[in-house]
Amino acid sequence: MFDPQRFITPRLQAIDASGIRRVFELATTLEDPINLSIGQPDFDVPESIKEVAAKAIRDGFNRYTVTQGAKPLRDKLVSRLAIEFPETLAGADSSTLADDTGLLITSGVSGGLVLALLTCVGPGDEVLIPDPYFVMYKHLVTLAGATPVTVPTYPDFQFTAQRLEPCINKRTKMVLFNSPSNPTGVVMSASACREVMELAEQRGLLLLSDEIYDEFCYDGGEVEVRPVFPSPAAYSRNLLLLRGFSKTYAMTGWRLGFATGPAPIIEQMTKLQQYSFVCAPSMTQLAGVAAVDVDMTAHVDAYRQKRDLVVERLSPHFDLVQPGGAFYAFPKVPRQLGLTGTQFVERAIERNLLIIPGSVFSERDTHFRISYACNDQKLSQGLDLLVDMAR
Ligand code: PMP
Repeated sequence: MFDPQRFITPRLQAIDASGIRRVFELATTLEDPINLSIGQPDFDVPESIKEVAAKAIRDGFNRYTVTQGAKPLRDKLVSRLAIEFPETLAGADSSTLADDTGLLITSGVSGGLVLALLTCVGPGDEVLIPDPYFVMYKHLVTLAGATPVTVPTYPDFQFTAQRLEPCINKRTKMVLFNSPSNPTGVVMSASACREVMELAEQRGLLLLSDEIYDEFCYDGGEVEVRPVFPSPAAYSRNLLLLRGFSKTYAMTGWRLGFATGPAPIIEQMTKLQQYSFVCAPSMTQLAGVAAVDVDMTAHVDAYRQKRDLVVERLSPHFDLVQPGGAFYAFPKVPRQLGLTGTQFVERAIERNLLIIPGSVFSERDTHFRISYACNDQKLSQGLDLLVDMAR
């Protein structure tokens, strides 16, 4: 007898996707909901970037690229990183990366995460992840055969060395760092970045910094190539830095990102990519070259205003850490309601508002995530409803 269940490995059985699936199943029952659950920008890819991708397809740039990524995109990213991190990542002539640093174009940051974890951790290893965390982290660590260990960052969501240190033991191998954070929107302070980087180096751990929301930073100034943005990469080159194009240019479906880090690790990730993803999509790699020069300031400014609106409207009614980046906020369910995050979200959904319970991103069920990547009218309606629910 043929039993498909027999083929599902314990590896996959260990992954529980029921929390988020439940929300999305509930969502399908709603007609035109106020949807504050979406993890991608509400604007479209800039026309100039679309043009390059369309032309690349028409011109026959449709084959595999080399596994490490098309040279024009690699060159572009290398020179940007050298400008941004002159002290750590730049090589001797400051337009290349240091000799011991590699760069790999990946299929989104997700692709980079899969490659990094399968390369660097396995059975017996522990990986420290901030709690709340981006949903993929826990499951990918498990898939790699390692054990995810959550480091609570409540109530301010700063991932500090002080919080991290007690969780380190002799099995600890890697630390996943994410700023601006999904789901909290919190940008880690420069001192947290420096101290966590130093701690990781002292204890011989690999720090992976997921900076997919790097352009969505609202409270710094500007430097030559980007918003001012604290990164552990400013303090050492002994880390894996993952960045992507999905959020910045609204290219979530185009699957483009990159990883940079110690050359021996990037080499092994490249080998694994060769036998799995093969390469990131060719036409989006060419489009990525153009994207790097597109100014997204207007969109970021618009999102800063949405952030301000969220904080202004919700702060009087909810415990809310002001988000400094990404497009999320992570308020706490008011204690006097006596509801868990999940129960609060169920009530919101009954009122046609779609948000995500904190338990999807955390060992706790006390908060909920809203995404403000939606139009101002829907956002405003959603905020009104939340305020009404808090009363
Ligand atoms: N990291 C974080 C923190 C994210 O929020 C996301 C997307 N939701 C990703 C990585 C993956 O993004 P992509 O694979 O589209 O680059």
